[in-house]
Amino acid sequence: MSKPIRMRSYKTGALYFFNFFIRTKIFTLCSLIFNLCSQNMKYKYVFIDLDDTLWDFHTNAKLSLQDMFVHRKLNRHFTDFEEFFRIYAKRNIELWESYGKGEITKDFLMAERFRYPLSKMGVDDMKLAEEIGIQYLEILPAKTALMPYAIDLLEYLYPKYPLSIISNGFVEVQYKKLRSSGIEKYFSHIVLSEAANALKPDKQIFEYALELNGAKAAETIMIGDSYEADIRGAQNASIDQIYFPLKKNENFTDKPSTYYIQSLKDVFDIL
Ligand SMILES: [Mg+2]
Repeated sequence: MSKPIRMRSYKTGALYFFNFFIRTKIFTLCSLIFNLCSQNMKYKYVFIDLDDTLWDFHTNAKLSLQDMFVHRKLNRHFTDFEEFFRIYAKRNIELWESYGKGEITKDFLMAERFRYPLSKMGVDDMKLAEEIGIQYLEILPAKTALMPYAIDLLEYLYPKYPLSIISNGFVEVQYKKLRSSGIEKYFSHIVLSEAANALKPDKQIFEYALELNGAKAAETIMIGDSYEADIRGAQNASIDQIYFPLKKNENFTDKPSTYYIQSLKDVFDIL
């Protein structure tokens, strides 16, 4: 009498494992179908800005300027680093806006942003300003701070989309930043304004990037922190946009974009 019972128990066990195996496979298949359906299939290419979108420009610049302040003994001219930084940062923003509009040259920007704070302190030394400008561009790209979730985002996007950097930054600096922070490997193309012969928000730089990728504007999306350069630029080229502003409490009513995010991890819900 015991033999048939043992056989039944073997059969029951085998059936249990068979059912478990089938259910696991069905679950995996359903998850796969769900993931495929939940992906935004509209987009096939992703363009991303570098400074303050992936690479933490603000933190890295401040660290570099602190190094410079100590190395050049600028405490001879300023009360402290914060005083120097306050004057520098305000002028630097103005200069980048002018550079973006094509009003000033790269060389003027590099020297003027250091000449100005020195002249405010009564030091009119253009040679010193130019030397500091050159040394700053050597120190800055070696810094490695990235925006929160930048690596998580790239790890997430990289297997799904060809990624391209679209940046107005200088050639000799941007490649070093990408290498020192270890993110160059994620990108199919590094599109810089100097190579494209146009600065964001000019649609020419976006069209140049589309051509490099063999992509259409309608299947591409741009992620960036600058409304003026990244979002308006993408709009000029009829490319959808994900706006990732540095100031999270900004008023967005007059700044429309396809998507707006507060954290890079919010992109997981879009792409
Ligand atoms: Mg930026």
